[in-house]
Amino acid sequence: MTNPNLPHYDLGYVGEPTAAVPKTCVFCEEELDGTDTAEWPIGTSDGPRQAHRQCMLRSTLGGIGHLIAHPYWCTEHNDPDAGLSYRHSAQLVEAYVHIIGVGADR
Ligand SMILES: [Zn+2]
Ligand SMILES: [Zn+2]
Repeated sequence: MTNPNLPHYDLGYVGEPTAAVPKTCVFCEEELDGTDTAEWPIGTSDGPRQAHRQCMLRSTLGGIGHLIAHPYWCTEHNDPDAGLSYRHSAQLVEAYVHIIGVGADR
């Protein structure tokens, strides 16, 4: 029987975690409620961790501030998330990709 309190890993994971794996996103540290959880875990020095799929996207593309106004947010304010939390920035990055796409000129 599967323990519902343990995270479920699909591919490449064998064995039991040696310590309780936190059910928070590895990027934003907010709680994972299951609706936006990325399919594959991220390998960390603490073992596999799960993440929001939007936060994975943001970790790759940069924050919403970086995408919409890099010179202002990154260069002048050193804040690629435009004053937002990592999670909120990540959600806007997902919307940005849906609307604008992944810019080839960045
Ligand atoms: Zn997250
Ligand atoms: Zn930037």
